Amino acid sequence: MKPAPFAYKKARTLEEAVALLGEKDARLLAGGQSLIATLNMRLSSPSLLIDINGIGGLDGISVKGGMVEIGALARHVQAERSDVVAKNAPLIARAMPHIGHPAIRNRGTLGGSIAFADPAAELPACLLALDGEVEATGPKGKRTIKAQDFFNGLFETALGPQEVLTAIRVPAAAKDTRVGFAELARRHGDYAIVGLAASGRGDGKGLADVRLAFFGVGNTPLRVKKAEAALTAGNIDAAVNALELEPHDDVQATAKVKKHLAGVLLRRVAKQLLEARA
Ligand code: FAD
Repeated sequence: MKPAPFAYKKARTLEEAVALLGEKDARLLAGGQSLIATLNMRLSSPSLLIDINGIGGLDGISVKGGMVEIGALARHVQAERSDVVAKNAPLIARAMPHIGHPAIRNRGTLGGSIAFADPAAELPACLLALDGEVEATGPKGKRTIKAQDFFNGLFETALGPQEVLTAIRVPAAAKDTRVGFAELARRHGDYAIVGLAASGRGDGKGLADVRLAFFGVGNTPLRVKKAEAALTAGNIDAAVNALELEPHDDVQATAKVKKHLAGVLLRRVAKQLLEARA
């Protein structure tokens, strides 16, 4: 299928993009790896596409004030190959190779992935597991939104209609940081049937501050706080039994299968957290 007709404008500055978003049915175009598919399938039909790829300064990756900051227009491949990400945000580094295929990672952006908020996507779960945040820029300037307040529902976020996601930030890994990541997909690069991103701290022999964020099992990435508490106490069986997930059947698997797989992944990730340093 072909998309419905739309107008196209290339924004050269952030201010221009924000102003253009004030037009009726306008939509930002970043890497296009999700948006163009939805247009071609006529799942969405914006009247104006605002291309933000020409805006300079939105693709940096750096560590500032103890936080790793990744600009919205950084491509997946940039994060995948970044030494800064590997050293300071090892959970994101582990997740990147699971996102689609090289051609998709060459174009897709981190900002696009977080803004699109696909419930089966890896990066929203990583952001939540890392207690990260989103920087949004709109007509009133910049604001910061914590990951836990950002993912509101199925493909729904806290971004306002005239806001551009300009960066994501996660705390830089410390010496005692532990991370874990696992997902089950039918083929490598497919969206996950179920996935789990996790972070915590190694506390002597045990774990502290465990954060588990599942994806593919709800409308948003989901933390499982009872399981986190059980894992912090060092009890993997109790953590699996405490999993408070209510997945729905979808095209990939039944709810029952997803719930079982969530337990399998939790055991794998628990091992990673307990055995390995970041
Ligand atoms: P676009 O497609 O350009 O935009 C997506 C949406 O986000 C649009 O609504 C757009 O308006 C909005 N948007 C984009 N940037 C911003 C911004 N800065 N501020 C506000 N809104 C913005 N993703 C995964 O996570 N895991 C996978 O396994 C996976 N597999 C894939 C397999 C295939 C075959 C394909 C085609 C894609 C796959 N993707 C997967 C999606 C890919 O990661 C996309 O890159 C990502 O979801 C969207 O990023 P993008 O830059 O392409 O955004």
